Amino acid sequence: YSPATGTFRSLRPLVPLPPPDAALSFPAFASSLLPSPLPAHPAFLDAATGESVSFPAFLAEARALAAALRSRAGLRRGDVAFVLAPARLDVPTLYFALLSFGAVVCPANPTLTAAEIARLVALSGASVAFAVSGTAAKLPAGLPTVLLDSDRFLSMLRDSGRGEGSEELAVLQSETAVIQFSSGTTGRIKAAALPHRSFIAMAAGSHALFGRPARGRERTLLTAPMFHSLGFYFTLRGVALGQTTVVITDAVARAGAKGVLEAADRWAVTEMTASPPVVMVMAKDTKCRLGMLERVICGGAPLAVSTAEMFRRRFPDVDLCMAYGSTEAGGISMMIGREECTRVGSAGRVSENIEVKIIDHITGKPLSVGQKGELLVKGPAVMTGYVGDDEANVTTFDSKGWLKTGDLCYIDQDGFLFVVDRLKELIKYKGYQVPPAELELVLHSLPEIVDAAVMPYPHEEAGQIPIALVVRQPGSKVTEAQVMDYVAKRVAPYKKIRKVLFVDSIPKSPAGKILRRQLANYVQRGAVSR
Ligand code: AMP
Repeated sequence: YSPATGTFRSLRPLVPLPPPDAALSFPAFASSLLPSPLPAHPAFLDAATGESVSFPAFLAEARALAAALRSRAGLRRGDVAFVLAPARLDVPTLYFALLSFGAVVCPANPTLTAAEIARLVALSGASVAFAVSGTAAKLPAGLPTVLLDSDRFLSMLRDSGRGEGSEELAVLQSETAVIQFSSGTTGRIKAAALPHRSFIAMAAGSHALFGRPARGRERTLLTAPMFHSLGFYFTLRGVALGQTTVVITDAVARAGAKGVLEAADRWAVTEMTASPPVVMVMAKDTKCRLGMLERVICGGAPLAVSTAEMFRRRFPDVDLCMAYGSTEAGGISMMIGREECTRVGSAGRVSENIEVKIIDHITGKPLSVGQKGELLVKGPAVMTGYVGDDEANVTTFDSKGWLKTGDLCYIDQDGFLFVVDRLKELIKYKGYQVPPAELELVLHSLPEIVDAAVMPYPHEEAGQIPIALVVRQPGSKVTEAQVMDYVAKRVAPYKKIRKVLFVDSIPKSPAGKILRRQLANYVQRGAVSR
């Protein structure tokens, strides 16, 4: 901690990164970290079928696909490719291929409704989509679409054609690699642009902390969805680390947390990502053995101290590594390394190459060790900004380029971060973002509703659930079930309202802003029973 600037830096040694202006795509960087000869173990393995892809096959298919996408599908550097697919073995190949020639990957949650998807496609400026037969119908008509489960795509993976001029392939690290959707610190959904350098920095950090490709038995189970910011990074992280990534494909995902744990046992994974709800199932499950498991990387939402302690009792030899991150800050800004896993309740320590500050969110003054305030982040993994949304960029970054996270935190004398609360309007249901403003718009479209506010409510399994406070039209008899059903028909399943409370009015500021703190107190006073 530097009192002069109010900045906290990583206690771990700085990880050297390539010069920022050197032309280097994330795939080129990841490939450069691989040992020669390439690892003999698989790069990817399907948890349901056991089908695998070797490192040489993965790299060759990604190269062939990149060439085919350019020559046969006419894709160019800078084109935005919307990806609407469940986790599949060919998704990492698609991501790698697109990134290698500077196309922008824009992955979205396949459970979204067609109306939600149409908004995201427009926001991203996508000119092409990749989908599977089951999801393609939800894409806007007129958007050229390549089906991953088609013969055309299969033939592209085997394309023997040549790529075009190599000078066009010199992708800069500052170019956008990925567009991720996030509501950030305000209610509205936005398109966050993350540059190649963000993933280069994260992979360099992971490599320094965990890279041991020579041992050959590292296997990571990817439980986070491939479209989510952390899941996206972990989809390709194994390539950079030379480790096998075990992919939870749809068949396993449908079996829920139990299916995930069976897969972890079956494939003897050494590492897995897990959202807090999965960690809770693991802590309580008495059947899974997980004999090879060395490390669980948990993040995306707070993990209750009692759950962490239960987990440690159940798996004393497994490192429970908490990670803190956000879409905007890049996957991981804080990470607990192996030696630090005993600090229960902390969300991690500052990652290499990252600087953070805690500020008084009213006065903007930097705060010191142990003081609570808003967490600000700076570093190479942070997004370049929201696409086409200057207004949001102005409020999200301060004048010196620090990203405001909207999280109320403090950092203790040993550099451990504790997330106390969320200042921003965001509900996290099982780690998924549910922006209240989006649900409030849906509620306002119901004629019998005069006013509405959506709030997070603590829930043991999901972390938080969205509940609605609703003011009905005078005389209206609309019921809780009818309101929930109305919303459920219009949003993806994870965004559903799970409780409705009818109230007389919604407290607002003179400018008409919902006074969410006041509402939170009201809800917490026990006005709501689950
Ligand atoms: P997302 O952009 O969906 O990854 O959400 C980022 C937000 O999730 C952060 O700003 C936090 O509010 C929350 N979050 C992520 N990781 C943690 C963690 N380890 N502990 C507490 N909250 C977290």
